[in-house]
Amino acid sequence: MNHTTVLLIGAGPVGLTLACELARRQTPYRLVERAAEPPRGSRGKGLQPRSLEILHDLGLAEALLAAGSTDLPYRKFNGNQLLGESPRRVVERADTQYPKTLLLPQYAVEESLRAKLHELGGAVEWATELGAFSQTATGITCRLEHPNWTEELACTYLVACDGGKSTTRKKLGIPFVGETHQQEQLWVGDVEVEGLTPDAWYNWLSPEFGLAFALFPFKNSTSWQLQAAMPPDAEGNVPTPTLEGFNQLFQARTHLEGVRFTSSSWQSIYRVNIRRAERYRVGNAFLAGDAAHVHSIAGGLGMNTGIQDAYNLGWKLAAVSKGEASDALLDTYAEERIPIAEWLLRTSSERQQVMMQAATTGKGAFETLATPDTTQLNLHYRDSSLTRKGEVTSNGLQAGDRAPDVQLAPGRWLSDQLRGTEWKLLLVGPTEGKPTPNLKLIPADNEPLRTAYGLSDGMVLIRPDGYIALIASEWREVPEYFEQLR
Ligand SMILES: Cc1cc2nc3c(=O)[nH]c(=O)nc-3n(C[C@H](O)[C@H](O)[C@H](O)COP(=O)(O)OP(=O)(O)OC[C@H]3O[C@@H](n4cnc5c(N)ncnc54)[C@H](O)[C@@H]3O)c2cc1C
Repeated sequence: MNHTTVLLIGAGPVGLTLACELARRQTPYRLVERAAEPPRGSRGKGLQPRSLEILHDLGLAEALLAAGSTDLPYRKFNGNQLLGESPRRVVERADTQYPKTLLLPQYAVEESLRAKLHELGGAVEWATELGAFSQTATGITCRLEHPNWTEELACTYLVACDGGKSTTRKKLGIPFVGETHQQEQLWVGDVEVEGLTPDAWYNWLSPEFGLAFALFPFKNSTSWQLQAAMPPDAEGNVPTPTLEGFNQLFQARTHLEGVRFTSSSWQSIYRVNIRRAERYRVGNAFLAGDAAHVHSIAGGLGMNTGIQDAYNLGWKLAAVSKGEASDALLDTYAEERIPIAEWLLRTSSERQQVMMQAATTGKGAFETLATPDTTQLNLHYRDSSLTRKGEVTSNGLQAGDRAPDVQLAPGRWLSDQLRGTEWKLLLVGPTEGKPTPNLKLIPADNEPLRTAYGLSDGMVLIRPDGYIALIASEWREVPEYFEQLR
């Protein structure tokens, strides 16, 4: 029987991020994907600031920024009447290199993660599906169905990154608690558009349908994402979308002459489900991404939250499998990420209501869909058992918060020094740290950092995923912190 340490099921953005995180830490893994090739649909079309910070750590943010756009305004119509245009809201904040949501298709994000994985010596195993599996005292035995053969594989850990319909979650017997909004269905797809300039997000609003039609162009691409509300019939079904259907619906709802879709590379039906897995762990099996939570796409948070799940779990799996931390560290994954999923379901439902109200009544601004919270920079783990409560700095920063980025000089950011897989210790003021394996000491005796952290003296211990574990005034607190992870 073959063996690996971590078996990842599904090579969407979540499985790919997790694979990169394990590969960078030399933790053996396999990444299997049922599909024979990468998906074509644009699906998630935005990277939030927090995800961009993570992709910066992986060395991917700059290329992605060049491939996407950040400033497309909202252009609003009622039928063929232009209602107006409003700029995209930017949440101004100085504590990140990436304050703006980046608009680009999900396949571009996945392509970039696959290239990174390749650079790290890994690859997706396409056309390979997880079949039956069972947990043993030391791990999990799995059957993998390859195109022409079946493999028996033993792994220590398994992570289901296999999307909202996760068969792994079902086989693990984890309830997916929540609601299906049968009435809220959309036609979605990718189309080539003739007759519109790709310089805005186009939204057709209507009292009857809400978002009657929407078209989102992508930079450096002739393809646009299409969304249109599609109320179901009495049996809850909506018709199968086609290019012809997209054209007919567009004309019926917009009456805009001279606009035509000339081809379509992806068509799908999207139905709103608001659900969360009751547990994220059963034995040595974990859930991440859409397998763990699904919700309205308003707010643009699904792929982003999944990437952040993976970033939380990756370093923990690596540390425990190398014997650097006890198994209890893996329990902190659910402890930290389930409250985030609860926030996610709440926030995306609120954003959906804001969007529907603006679309159906004209009240409330459509562009207020983005808020300081949807940047995901404010999410924190203050209540986690990994957080050492203690000092709150003069500007309110405390353990559990995301370590704020700081512009140290023009073109020079703290996050450039925070990159990499180790824990980091910021030495603020004259403090001295001692060289320790897996801990990077960062002298941080400078004014911009002191101001940004509200700290004149002390040490800030930062986890590998960029959250503050401990704000310490004495060196002994650092080894003590690590001791309790063992
Ligand atoms: C129209 C639309 C718009 C969206 N807009 C946004 C947005 O703006 N922002 C945002 O953040 N999110 C958005 N999302 C949501 C986003 O697409 C998902 O949250 C994201 O794809 C979840 O990633 P994942 O890796 O968890 O799952 P997926 O991307 O679903 O990947 C799961 C993978 O697992 C594979 N798989 C399944 N079962 C098995 C098995 N048994 N064995 C092997 N492989 C298996 C599947 O083939 C698939 O490739 C949008 C989605 C849609 C449909």
